[in-house]
Amino acid sequence: MPKLAIKVDIDTLRGYREGMPRMLDLFKKHSITASIFFSFGPDNSGKAIRRIFRKGFISKMLRTKAPSTYGLKTLLYGTVLPAPLIVPPAPKVFIRAIEEGHDCGVHSWDHVLVQDKLNELSKEEFRSLFEKAAHMYEKLSGVKPTSYAAPGWQVSSMSLEVQQELNLEYCSDARGHSPFIPIFEGKEYNVPQIPTTLPTMDEILGLSGIDDETLPSYWLNGMDKEWNVLTVHAEMEGMSKLNVFDKFLTMAKERNTEFFTLREYAKISKPVPCSIKTGTLTGRAGTLAVQEEI
Ligand SMILES: [Zn+2]
Repeated sequence: MPKLAIKVDIDTLRGYREGMPRMLDLFKKHSITASIFFSFGPDNSGKAIRRIFRKGFISKMLRTKAPSTYGLKTLLYGTVLPAPLIVPPAPKVFIRAIEEGHDCGVHSWDHVLVQDKLNELSKEEFRSLFEKAAHMYEKLSGVKPTSYAAPGWQVSSMSLEVQQELNLEYCSDARGHSPFIPIFEGKEYNVPQIPTTLPTMDEILGLSGIDDETLPSYWLNGMDKEWNVLTVHAEMEGMSKLNVFDKFLTMAKERNTEFFTLREYAKISKPVPCSIKTGTLTGRAGTLAVQEEI
């Protein structure tokens, strides 16, 4: 039986408020427990426009119809419009995810800041951003978070060091093929990494032969690893693409897929040391953390 873990990233206010409740309904319908990573603080999506200067951004925006997917307002937050906080004004969605038994973790306090400027942040700044999110997590749920998923799959020796100091149970910062103990720039860190193995919807939708109809089987055929992980986004698969995601889950269940959380993978997969490199992926602008092939 194929194994699959669904990892949900929440990057924006709209994704959190409108996409996440629908996705939680969908998980309930299919009796699936997912791993959900929350951006807690300011939605600075407008600043991501900076990425317009990076190769591939415009074609990706057009291919995925980003303005209609994300909403025009979202694309202006943090620039023309002030950046609204994501979780604090509407904690119910987060609390619901916890209450419904999902494996919840920290994605960020400020997604755009960490994704775009990780290498410019000091260790203290990075740690305090994590702690701001962790404080909100604990205030609302009564427990401390023990997992983290890097915004935009960005890692550094500093971020890996902080995860180790915080004694996190697992992190999901990279793209790769199987759970591993990260080695970065020659140094080993002890927090296991559970990588995303499948391409994300925004990376492949609109490429030759991949549309709303064919995407579910494309993903199913890509589940050829022992520990498959699919990352979905609350602002995409939870909103305009909810039906595509629903179809994929239905087909996966028909193929007897067994669903796990990333936390369960971390416990049962016996991760072995493996290097993380900075690389590129089709459909994604800029560089990101990629697990070395074996
Ligand atoms: Zn994200």
